[in-house]
Amino acid sequence: MNTNFQSWIQTQMEELKAQNLYKSPPILESPQNGRVKMGGRMLINLASNNYLGLANDPRVVQAAVQAAQEWGAGAGAVRWLGGTNTLHETLENKLAEFKKTEAVLVFQSGFNANSGTIPPCFGEGDVIISDELNHASIIDGVRLSAAKYKKSDGYVYKHADMNHLEEILKRCGEFKKRLIVTDGVFSMDGDIAPLPDIVSLAEKYDAVVMVDDAHASGVLGVNGSGSTSHFGLYGRVDIQLGTLSKALGVVGGYIAGSALLKKWLINRGRPYLFSTALPPAAIGALIKAVEILQTDPQPMERLWENTRFWKASLEDLGFDTMGSETPITPVFCGDEGKAQTMERRLREEGVFTVSIVYPTVARGKARVRTMPSAMHTRQDLEDALTAFHKVGKELGII
Ligand SMILES: *Cc1c(COP(=O)(O)O)cnc(C)c1O
Repeated sequence: MNTNFQSWIQTQMEELKAQNLYKSPPILESPQNGRVKMGGRMLINLASNNYLGLANDPRVVQAAVQAAQEWGAGAGAVRWLGGTNTLHETLENKLAEFKKTEAVLVFQSGFNANSGTIPPCFGEGDVIISDELNHASIIDGVRLSAAKYKKSDGYVYKHADMNHLEEILKRCGEFKKRLIVTDGVFSMDGDIAPLPDIVSLAEKYDAVVMVDDAHASGVLGVNGSGSTSHFGLYGRVDIQLGTLSKALGVVGGYIAGSALLKKWLINRGRPYLFSTALPPAAIGALIKAVEILQTDPQPMERLWENTRFWKASLEDLGFDTMGSETPITPVFCGDEGKAQTMERRLREEGVFTVSIVYPTVARGKARVRTMPSAMHTRQDLEDALTAFHKVGKELGII
């Protein structure tokens, strides 16, 4: 082993620890549920993106088992080289119907869908204009592109600031193509992008719109079909990204758009071309998960009922939830050390949440991120509120 390298890592980590930025993953000892086992104790689970409870829904689990038994454990190859089977086709057709778009292409993850879609669509001579709070996978996808995109060159607009976006668009007339890319629901703040205004500006300045609906999928719009549906913008958003890993409960990501876009990505999307397809169990489970979204309104109703109760109760206690409009409910702490102490103290009091610090959010904007879901009973949330009240007072947050 290279000792220089090992000691370099050691130094870096000590620096992270000194700044309260060091992370290590909590280990769950039971399946995803309203309460999960950790360190031998049951804790209220406010850390999951499993919005609708589908990750551990018996109907979805059964579909996974059945697909594995029928089709085996692995896909065997990358999509275009023999790794695509009729399950993938069925899922993509179902998703296209669900999203009301011509076509859908499934990737191995939402992260891959971003990095597989942006670089082949925008390159030399183009410009990509981004919201400053866009998700890391959008940022990485953008960085892989040969287009102009840098903040230092003035192509990143202040969060949800439409005047700033327009100002940038006005200077971008010379480029061959313009892309405006945004989260649909911002993953750490829980606010909704002003998509109608973005679409109007795009139409005015001849720009393409891409929305990353990772946190809107299963949460906003008709049957949880996303922010395009939520705002009634059918046919006006060029590229919609969805994840299959959050509310859909399994794993994967997809791009919904025109049939032409799908064909282009099949030919040029690098994760599609060079990384093995999702396994049959995942695809079988996802086909069932989409069916549940389309036919069973209960999980979404429970999600929103719990969300309304949780947000109102936290605010009544005096916490700052940072203007969130969706189930993602940040509890503002500010200081990184305080957020980490809050996470630890909440865990001691029986609540599992994760503190979010730099570089996931800006320095000084540390928070504990809470995720009410369809999995929670009212009792789960009430018990969690008791813990938040106690710890919030203790740390002087309320
Ligand atoms: C989680 C997330 C992704 C990545 O999706 P995965 O399917 O987990 O890879 C992409 N974009 C946003 C906004 C996200 O929150």
